[in-house]
Amino acid sequence: MNKIQNMLYYLIIGLQKWPNNYAQIPDELHKGMLMFIQEVARSGGEIPAELHKLLQILHKPSNEWGIQGLIEYYPGEAPVIEEFIGITPDAEDFINTYISPNEAQQRNMYAILQFCRDESRKLQTEYAQIRTFLSHSQNAVLSSFQLAQFVESFRDRELSTLVRQCYEEVTTLLVNFRKCPYCGWTLEYKNDRWRCNKENICYALADFEMFEQFDFENNRVYRLLPGIQRYVLLPGMSEMKLADFLKRKGYGVELFPNIDEYDLAVSLNNNKIFLDVKDFKDPRTLANFFNQKSLTYLDKYGHQVYVVVPEYRNILFPSYGKRASVLLKEDTEKFINIIMENEVDKMLKRVLL
Ligand SMILES: [Zn+2]
Repeated sequence: MNKIQNMLYYLIIGLQKWPNNYAQIPDELHKGMLMFIQEVARSGGEIPAELHKLLQILHKPSNEWGIQGLIEYYPGEAPVIEEFIGITPDAEDFINTYISPNEAQQRNMYAILQFCRDESRKLQTEYAQIRTFLSHSQNAVLSSFQLAQFVESFRDRELSTLVRQCYEEVTTLLVNFRKCPYCGWTLEYKNDRWRCNKENICYALADFEMFEQFDFENNRVYRLLPGIQRYVLLPGMSEMKLADFLKRKGYGVELFPNIDEYDLAVSLNNNKIFLDVKDFKDPRTLANFFNQKSLTYLDKYGHQVYVVVPEYRNILFPSYGKRASVLLKEDTEKFINIIMENEVDKMLKRVLL
């Protein structure tokens, strides 16, 4: 990681830890502030004299921070923290993509992936089963009985434990929740409205007028961790919808082929292409993600691979796919084809027929 990435990393991780104890400023936040001061000084911007001032700046879009070159790593319109929300979805995308999935809540998903990929196991069927299960809205919130039924269907106890760790118990909180009409996860009342997780993208995807209460009687209740809802369930719902649509159209579809080398393999008449679903809030983050990869990594995308962005991203950023494509560097652009979910059918007709 370079200096700017390091700075963002320490600021975000520090802010994530801070609410645990306001009296004590986390070391990471302190370190991030010093790095911020260095970067601002280098760019000739205004230096924040104390933490309170820094926090004010971090509430602003990053293109107002006065740090040159930041746009290569963080979307210009996005702040790092937001009132009522805390760490922004863009900041979470940053941690999730540039740093390591180990730092994020999806580390549980990553652990499952590593476990299934292990040379001695190669658990393709189990991996696809787990991802499919976590991609359906009816499994976003479950009773302990329902969760146990799925988790215990795996012969391997370690795998069962890893799947269980994608959920957290919310039995006592349930009265404060409503059921999300789009993804089935928990809505919370914040700042005068019902919200689904931080980004609340579901608000644009379903009728947010009437809400059901959860009814699990006296059972213990579990929900997906917020990070799994955001990075597995939401894009997963798009993946499943796409897979069903393509099957109905007569294509051969394989989910998570080669233990998640790609998300979908689509075939027709002995021709095969691969789809990789990528879901970042800002098209700049998607472009930056590929711009920073090595040529060896990018080569994986060179042949018959398409990067597919869920259709709902167009709601916030019209022409999301085109915006991301024009932000790709020249070297990168040769390898990466970005299309929107609704363009897949047209592309397949062109490529496979
Ligand atoms: Zn939702």
